[in-house]
Amino acid sequence: MGALVKELDNPTFRLAVAQFDQAAERMNLDPNLRQRLKLPERSLMVSIPVRMDDGTVKVFNGYRVQHDSSRGPSKGGIRYHPDVNLGEVAALAMWMTWKCALAGLPYGGAKGGVQVAPERLSRAELQRLTRRYAAEIFPIIGPDKDVPAPDVGTDAQVMAWFMDTYSQQVGFPVPGIVTGKPLSIGGSLGREDATGRGVVYVTLEAMRCLGLDLDKASVVVQGFGNVGSHTARIMQQSGARVIAVSDKSGGVYNPKGLDIPELLRRYRVDGHQSLGDTKMGDRISNEELLTLECTILVPAALSEQITRLNADKVRCRILAEGANGPTTLDADQILTDKGVFIIPDILANSGGVIVSYFEWVQDAQRFFWKAEDIQDRLQEIITAAFRRTQQFSTAKGVTMRMAALMSGIDKVAQAHLARGLYP
Ligand code: GLU
Repeated sequence: MGALVKELDNPTFRLAVAQFDQAAERMNLDPNLRQRLKLPERSLMVSIPVRMDDGTVKVFNGYRVQHDSSRGPSKGGIRYHPDVNLGEVAALAMWMTWKCALAGLPYGGAKGGVQVAPERLSRAELQRLTRRYAAEIFPIIGPDKDVPAPDVGTDAQVMAWFMDTYSQQVGFPVPGIVTGKPLSIGGSLGREDATGRGVVYVTLEAMRCLGLDLDKASVVVQGFGNVGSHTARIMQQSGARVIAVSDKSGGVYNPKGLDIPELLRRYRVDGHQSLGDTKMGDRISNEELLTLECTILVPAALSEQITRLNADKVRCRILAEGANGPTTLDADQILTDKGVFIIPDILANSGGVIVSYFEWVQDAQRFFWKAEDIQDRLQEIITAAFRRTQQFSTAKGVTMRMAALMSGIDKVAQAHLARGLYP
């Protein structure tokens, strides 16, 4: 394979490819397809010059990678983080392909990113960065081509600037160019907490399989961004005891259970710099948090958090992967050997893209649904995906991760075979 592979090579891309290889081997995937699906369909690198508030110009690196579009327009978020690079974006794009296929959404997979620490920019700088990034990737995106959404470091406001920039370029409003937008411009009810809600729905299914009760469960959540904070809140609302949460500066632990709405208020409204400052429990490090004894552990931060170095110390019954790629291959094996029930990322965190799909459908129909409809349909789709994966896993004697990957990859392979090779 050619030069592109060298550009992509990094730990996250290697993890995505290693998972794919294991699944492809196990399902005896056509070698031609295997070669193709290991690589992205299209990768774009852009330079984003931004006028900073002090008058200087800074140039940021941006990416958009489309891994596959055999089943529909490609779909996936945009990440603003200092560690973003082409390989990471390509890995995340590949996971989007399997995630959308597994849930049965008519999408391929994509991901975008800008190498930037968004919290260091002013609001005006962030807006200029977003608009220029949108303009740079404009040629390859569109509501029927490739549809971005929020991810780490981006939110509804960033999506609004993105939608506005695209609409200015074409000369008319195009709400369906992104999902995760504000309601005022065609966003969907229930999109913001969709990923967290989905994590809770699949965890409930896993608990049912294992004969466990959420009322007696303890929950630990790593990450207090969009995914982690809503997961913690909805877990608690559903009757579980959330004993620890963390953000990048560390976490807070209280074995009696944390008051999540109060924690959210102090953290967000009172502007505490870190969760530890909230004084609602003992301060703990992220490393300690991952090894706390609990029923359910939800890594909802970044990738490669559970590795061969700490997997042995993880003491949960269920690992619900809110983040993308939080568990390395070695760690996966260690946890499986210990009997941890893993709900893999492409299943556990698919609630976000499922409700993104609802948003895109509502934008296309110019007809908006009620909040109950969104929640009911999300639960129906994600629960069905869980059950199919669980049945597949039992029938074939493979892990939940392998079952999810194999089902997703198989749907993509079927689409490639049906469409044939052009020219
Ligand atoms: N960034 C989210 C993910 O990793 C959502 C993607 C989307 O809604 O398109 O699944």
